[in-house]
Amino acid sequence: MSFTPERPPLHGETLDSLTARLATAGVPAYRARQVLEWTYKRRAAGWEAMTSLPRALRAALAEMFDFDPTTLLLNRESADVTDKLLLELRDRLLIETVIIRAPQEGVGLDHSRKTICLSTQVGCAMGCRFCASGLAGLKRHLSAGEIVHQLLQVCRREDARTPRARSELASFDNIVVMGMGEPLHNYDELLRALTIVNAPWGLGFGARRITVSTSGLVPQIRRLAAEPLGFRLAISLHGATNEVREQIMPINRRWPLEELLPAVREFSDRHGRMVTLEFILIEDINDSLDQAAKLGGIAAGLHAHVNLIPYNTVAGLPWRRPSLTRQQRFLDVLEQRGVSVTLRREKGHDIDAACGQLRLQTEQARAAAATQP
Ligand code: SAH
Ligand code: SF4
Repeated sequence: MSFTPERPPLHGETLDSLTARLATAGVPAYRARQVLEWTYKRRAAGWEAMTSLPRALRAALAEMFDFDPTTLLLNRESADVTDKLLLELRDRLLIETVIIRAPQEGVGLDHSRKTICLSTQVGCAMGCRFCASGLAGLKRHLSAGEIVHQLLQVCRREDARTPRARSELASFDNIVVMGMGEPLHNYDELLRALTIVNAPWGLGFGARRITVSTSGLVPQIRRLAAEPLGFRLAISLHGATNEVREQIMPINRRWPLEELLPAVREFSDRHGRMVTLEFILIEDINDSLDQAAKLGGIAAGLHAHVNLIPYNTVAGLPWRRPSLTRQQRFLDVLEQRGVSVTLRREKGHDIDAACGQLRLQTEQARAAAATQP
């Protein structure tokens, strides 16, 4: 379920691993720092741009590592607040990286919060019945380098938009691992990628501003809880009872609520920070007031924040979002119980399910083109 490229991406190397790799070629340790500085701080466009390195070393590095593990195929800026990058991997598979600009109340888009949404797999094995990403199953895991490179593509694109002032990754408020794939199913590569994103010799982005979203892989949640870097955690709950959750999320059979919720509690106890419970509202599936009350009970017990997301319809799937009145009633129940809760009201259906759909369309178009006479 992984792909071995001709040359590994540079962006999957940590300072230690790069130093060790270069040492085998007789290159002194300080060169590893220089390479990473050119890559992440100075954002060199390629090996040739790393002018403080001897020419022979640049040539040797080009033989050893891939500097461009993803290629930007399409950048679709939608009329609303999402901006999607469709990226092609070396084996021609496609992934999406999404930039979300959420206007802050009263101040408009110029002062919006900027979030980057990363993918961790091509497809997904979890098979949630409402989700576009999992429709065709899992094609493969992304490597750490492919995960990190998505952020460099975002930086590149931002640099192009604001050519004078080099926009730093720090101008983004959050990174959420909520794109295609189940991040905790690709645990080792995810952790390696996030270590590089966080490290001072890497992208230097604070762990507290990085959220990992999971459909609920219990052992990996416990493992993540024990990691020294304090990432944030979001749980895709989508059902407040096993009965409802099981209908739409097969993983609930393997890890039902009585296993999942204690693991979430362990995470929040260790990190002393609120976990987010994601709850997509799907008409007649999980939008009853009884579910709202039970969700309120779970959230109160975990001191968790609840994020209600009206379902985004996916072509070919029967699910719908509830009416605004119904969404409001659901919200009211939680608020009355004193739960910390938000309901996404942004316009534009593509804000959440964004990840996955552009890729799906392109793959369908490619398949159609391939079968044309
Ligand atoms: N696999 C991880 C992260 C990727 S999915 C997870 O499931 O948490 C990111 C979020 O988008 C999840 O909460 C998922 O349930 C939600 N999602 C998937 N399809 C959606 C849709 N059509 N509308 C709204 N949210 C959706
Ligand atoms: Fe996979 Fe998350 Fe989609 Fe479920 S919701 S199929 S875990 S990407």
